[in-house]
Amino acid sequence: MSLLSVYKVSKQFTVGDSVVQALDDVSFDVQEGECLAIVGESGSGKSTIANIILGIYSATEGSVLYKDKELPDKRGKALRRAIQLVQQNPLSSLNPRRTIGASLRLALDVHGIGEKKDRNGMVETLLEEVGLPSEFRHRSPAALSGGQRQRVAIARALACQSRLVVLDEPTSALDVLVQARVLKLLEDLKQRRNLTYIFITHDLSVVRNIADRVAVFEKGQLVEIGSTTDVFEDPKNPYTRRLMAAVPIVGRDEQALRDKLSETMK
Ligand code: ADP
Ligand code: MG
Repeated sequence: MSLLSVYKVSKQFTVGDSVVQALDDVSFDVQEGECLAIVGESGSGKSTIANIILGIYSATEGSVLYKDKELPDKRGKALRRAIQLVQQNPLSSLNPRRTIGASLRLALDVHGIGEKKDRNGMVETLLEEVGLPSEFRHRSPAALSGGQRQRVAIARALACQSRLVVLDEPTSALDVLVQARVLKLLEDLKQRRNLTYIFITHDLSVVRNIADRVAVFEKGQLVEIGSTTDVFEDPKNPYTRRLMAAVPIVGRDEQALRDKLSETMK
């Protein structure tokens, strides 16, 4: 049984007189415990599918099934808790007037997670789990760096104890070094908590490190899906091939050159 199935989903947006076909007959499954990457250029429909999975947008056609049950457009609390979203820009999803601790506490309160008396302690544990000092609970989002804020957004997804997390460009706004650390955190958490990820990104070098399978979107259509190794080493679709060709790959010769250069710089 798949944890999540997207079945023949189409989405049209009407803007003034024109209709945008953001998704066109998209179907795929997500298996429990895997990391499925969704890749594609800007405007290919990645965030639209994320929003439909989360119930933020409703599909024009088709359906989304969670544990073999069709998800309704209007989701009750239990379903809202079951699937969590981490967005590119956590500033837009964290209330600027609430402290970090209050935001995390609210997630626990809303979903009735744990005993009331234990929830402050749970907030501290969550912060520690994402590598932040528990004193950060007194801070406002503005007093954190981008990477730290993204860690808080991840902690909030964890607070709901959901097993399925949709990550929409979670590291795209971060510096390369910070990006690597947040990716490492996401990998550790996935292991530790046995999570399932739908990992949306336009950055293919990230995919290679983290994803088990890759789904390639082009102009609202899913043009290729397969194991990360297969899609990278033997892309079937011309668009995927072009996408892959654009990734800077460090070949053996290039690496040797880099090693030599760093030797001479010592
Ligand atoms: P991606 O995340 O891959 O960059 P999106 O899913 O955000 O792409 O967008 C896919 C297409 O749908 C784009 O043409 C975009 O302009 C359009 N679109 C997305 N959201 C809306 C919206 N709320 N209203 C109108 N058009 C939208
Ligand atoms: Mg997007």
